[in-house]
Amino acid sequence: MKKVVCKSCKMFFEEGGSCPGCKKNSFTTSWQGRIHFINSKESQIAQKMGVETDGEYAIKIR
Ligand SMILES: [Zn+2]
Repeated sequence: MKKVVCKSCKMFFEEGGSCPGCKKNSFTTSWQGRIHFINSKESQIAQKMGVETDGEYAIKIR
């Protein structure tokens, strides 16, 4: 399955599904860089990005 990126929260999920973070299903395949949060509640980077759910995120989307 191809991985796509949620347009709303930038979390990766499999094409055809919906985002495990925000439950939306609008996605993009235009992204740059990826970052994996395993302790987003205590990560300053995660807080800056507005990440609340652990998982894999794209750094930039278009
Ligand atoms: Zn999302």
